[in-house]
Amino acid sequence: MSKNITIEIKKESVSKLKSGYPLLLKEFFYDTSKLAQEGSILKLVDNKKNFIAKGYYGLQNKGYGWILTDNEQQKIDSNFFTQKIKDAISYRKDLFRDQTTTAFRLFNGEGDGIGGLTIDYFDGYYLITWYSQGIYSFKEPILKALKSLVEYKGIYHKRRFDTKGQYLESESDYLCGKRAPKPLIVKENNINFAIYLDDGAMVGIFLDQREVRDTIKREYVKGKSVLNTFSYTGAFSVAAALGGAKETTSVDLAKRSLPKTKEQFTINNIDLEKQKIIVADVFEYFKIAKKRGLSYDLIVVDPPSFARSKRKVFSAAKDYTKLLKEVIAITNKNGVIVASTNAANFDMKRFKTFINKAFKEANIRYKIEKSFSLPKDFRVSKKFPEGNYLKVLFLRKID
Ligand code: SAH
Repeated sequence: MSKNITIEIKKESVSKLKSGYPLLLKEFFYDTSKLAQEGSILKLVDNKKNFIAKGYYGLQNKGYGWILTDNEQQKIDSNFFTQKIKDAISYRKDLFRDQTTTAFRLFNGEGDGIGGLTIDYFDGYYLITWYSQGIYSFKEPILKALKSLVEYKGIYHKRRFDTKGQYLESESDYLCGKRAPKPLIVKENNINFAIYLDDGAMVGIFLDQREVRDTIKREYVKGKSVLNTFSYTGAFSVAAALGGAKETTSVDLAKRSLPKTKEQFTINNIDLEKQKIIVADVFEYFKIAKKRGLSYDLIVVDPPSFARSKRKVFSAAKDYTKLLKEVIAITNKNGVIVASTNAANFDMKRFKTFINKAFKEANIRYKIEKSFSLPKDFRVSKKFPEGNYLKVLFLRKID
């Protein structure tokens, strides 16, 4: 059973919490030594012992836990979780009905009222991700709640926490029900994607880019040459090929990206002849492209927010401008750059300054044609707009 702890909040933080801010920051507390056991229910009070809100203690790189309710009488039990998940399901009822899309986010952390927890839907299979030991301590009531609400083929989970906030490797991520086929084929706007629910931290697709892939496919690539950098399993390349791209080139450092990308093309009946898949550092590829005089009509740039490769460290916040200048140099006249980032440490406004700087230094004019943030199923709390980490801009090169 989880412990209940009454803990006093600093005077200057009370109004922030009262206005509905969901994240518990270290600086809100006078004394964090009381927070011994993750998963403890915290009753937050002011200096006069007046009730403010209830939350749980769970360490993430973001903070010390999340607010769950502002109702003092509310018990944090399987009924509580049932209500939250039920609301989340009803918020996505259109997606459940949509036959052309069978993969989406069902529960998005604080956006759905429980920070540190996400649930993704993959054609009848459910994937729960726990972002702290604290939220993981509620595994039984949360699992019970989910099972009572949905007809599931099978349930899997990922524990994205350990001392370093990393994904916890384990024998298997399977929890209950049927085991998913390997791969499990899901659909997104009728594009097939091969998903592996039990093969490490990532399943093969980033669901938050659904609208961006669809826009590329429908509006931007017919007859065009496409370069997909940081391509992972090639999801953007698949969308481009299905949208009638003349050819695609996918570049990723990871060796596994080659068979994984081939597989995504194959399950969509795409002719592999016209698709290049290159295992390389993108910065090395830019050099090769320049040397060979290669250039492209559409380039997708979706780097990790932070990555360490053999010799260097890439940080989106520091290096996006430099990266984009390389991309601008190999984009054709009137070409389009899809500039994307999931970095949570800067907002859209700042992202636009990185972009502006890159074009300015390259002495090239551009216009922003489209702008995307998280899709509806990645629900964001109005009180926590920084939860909307995705930023994607379609940039038309004018020269
Ligand atoms: N754009 C992808 C997701 C990218 S995830 C999609 O929408 O599916 C980030 C990817 O960048 C990982 O696959 C990782 O292997 C790759 N990566 C990281 N650093 C790289 C580098 N310097 N050059 C090429 N790929 C890199």
